[in-house]
Amino acid sequence: MRKVFLIVLLISMITTACTSATEAVETQIPPISTSTHVPPSSASTPEANSVIPTVTDSVAASATPLPSDDFFTQAGITLPLPTCNALTQPQTEGPYYTPNSPEKHSFLEAGLTGTRLILVGYVLDQKCQPLPKAWLDFWQADANGEYDNVGYRLRGHQFTDVQGRYYLETILPGLYSSRPIEHIHVKVRPEGGAEVTSQLYFPGRPVEGLTVTIEDRGDHLVGYFNFVVQK
Ligand code: FE
Repeated sequence: MRKVFLIVLLISMITTACTSATEAVETQIPPISTSTHVPPSSASTPEANSVIPTVTDSVAASATPLPSDDFFTQAGITLPLPTCNALTQPQTEGPYYTPNSPEKHSFLEAGLTGTRLILVGYVLDQKCQPLPKAWLDFWQADANGEYDNVGYRLRGHQFTDVQGRYYLETILPGLYSSRPIEHIHVKVRPEGGAEVTSQLYFPGRPVEGLTVTIEDRGDHLVGYFNFVVQK
């Protein structure tokens, strides 16, 4: 009987020792921290280093557009009085135009990242008169230089308001391999007039007569450009 008790006691002691040893080993393994792990690739992206925020959260911006008076007031934008420049020069349509775009004043949507840009201006005739109800159709690449050739991401048309003004909330387009210069494509057609196809450029790589004037607002840019068309 005593022999049996000693055997049971011995087994119990061995089991306890093994369990303790296992716990000791487990507690020596440092926990894997996920919160401090930053992949080198994302740490070096322009977005990570830029002070300009992404627009991922700006989903509401592409909902019902504001009346233009309200938009300009809320955005704190006063358009300079229109000056009479030469007619807007036509440029090639390029290979990525998709007709029948939806009516939009904002290209911002969930998942879209880049430098926010509000593009504003007038559509004028050659006598410098603002043209209400002029049709504008914009299309552009995303920040990575990619076009949506299936749907209408970063594509949309609109009409100028009673003062001949347009406004578009978007992002700066990126470069793509065959066009090493940032640009936004546009078609403009005054009511009852002829359509002009052209492109807008930016001060870093300007094109005479087609370069947007940029105002840096810190967390976004405002770009000014007036179109002058034959009516
Ligand atoms: Fe293009």
